[in-house]
Amino acid sequence: MKIRDLLRKGFSISFEFFPPKTEEGEEELFETIRNLQSINPTFVSVTYGAGGSTREKTRRVVERIHRETSLTVMAHLTCIAHTEEELTEILRGYREIGIENILALRGDRPKDNSATEKRGCQYAYQLVRLIRTKFGDHFSVGVASYPEGHPESPNLEWEVRYFKMKVEEGADFSITQMFFDNSYYYRFVELCRKEGIDIPIIPGIMPITNFRQIQRFASMCGASIPHHVVQRLEPYAHLPQETMKVGVELAIKQCEDLIENGVPGLHFYTLNKSKATLLIYDAIKDRVPTKI
Ligand code: FAD
Repeated sequence: MKIRDLLRKGFSISFEFFPPKTEEGEEELFETIRNLQSINPTFVSVTYGAGGSTREKTRRVVERIHRETSLTVMAHLTCIAHTEEELTEILRGYREIGIENILALRGDRPKDNSATEKRGCQYAYQLVRLIRTKFGDHFSVGVASYPEGHPESPNLEWEVRYFKMKVEEGADFSITQMFFDNSYYYRFVELCRKEGIDIPIIPGIMPITNFRQIQRFASMCGASIPHHVVQRLEPYAHLPQETMKVGVELAIKQCEDLIENGVPGLHFYTLNKSKATLLIYDAIKDRVPTKI
């Protein structure tokens, strides 16, 4: 089903996975998917490696989820390292196997700028345009948004302008970069609404299960970790079980506050593991608004 239509029906719970490098990893991922299926998620998504590095693997995992489960699946696609022809071919392939949802992304620029000559689209809004021009309404199209601003954006006002360009090209919904302080999300959504952006903006939730790893991710994508979160987690940085316990507790509080403030859904960055997400969901499930 198209995610656009599912979001109209009510609150969404979704999970993000990455395509594993090995067969063993893929079997573990499908074990995770089986565990998370009990929650009956609205959709799941599969990331696309920087520079097209997981082109085949993303496609394979997306296809397996589509064929072997009853889940609605969305394929991420980054445009930076592909020509227009390549992007069209990838999208045609998804259409042929019945995939109806794409997260249209630019992708991170390679540090050595090696992909520059090949680029068919420089920014995600051009990929959204390409999808709408060549495939009309076949795909429901999601895009990324950044409550704290993308590291390349000069400020939040420009961030909103760039985001609006993707919406004007036909994006149906957005998933945000991870954030750990909900006030960034609320302020961003308010700015978007003032600019007339009215698509659902689903908060991306990263449960912290490995503090050092999340510190690295956060600094790469420009997300800040509030002092109180550092204070709670730092003492347990080398104690995985304690980190998981505190990380889950913090994520539960974050999700409860978001639900109270009327978010359209919650998108969990699972890192291909189910435990933290299951614990969080179990704690918040009675507050999750029911679907119509
Ligand atoms: P864009 O929307 O094109 O914008 C990126 C930045 O470029 C903007 O913030 C702005 O600073 C600038 N910009 C945009 N338009 C213009 C313009 N017209 N003129 C000048 N500057 C402009 N990466 C992956 O490699 N694979 C994935 O699967 C993946 N999944 C993601 C999922 C989510 C939910 C999120 C939030 C991010 C994901 N990313 C993924 C990371 C993403 O690819 C990077 O953040 C990338 O740097 C920007 O991609 P974008 O689609 O937001 O780009």
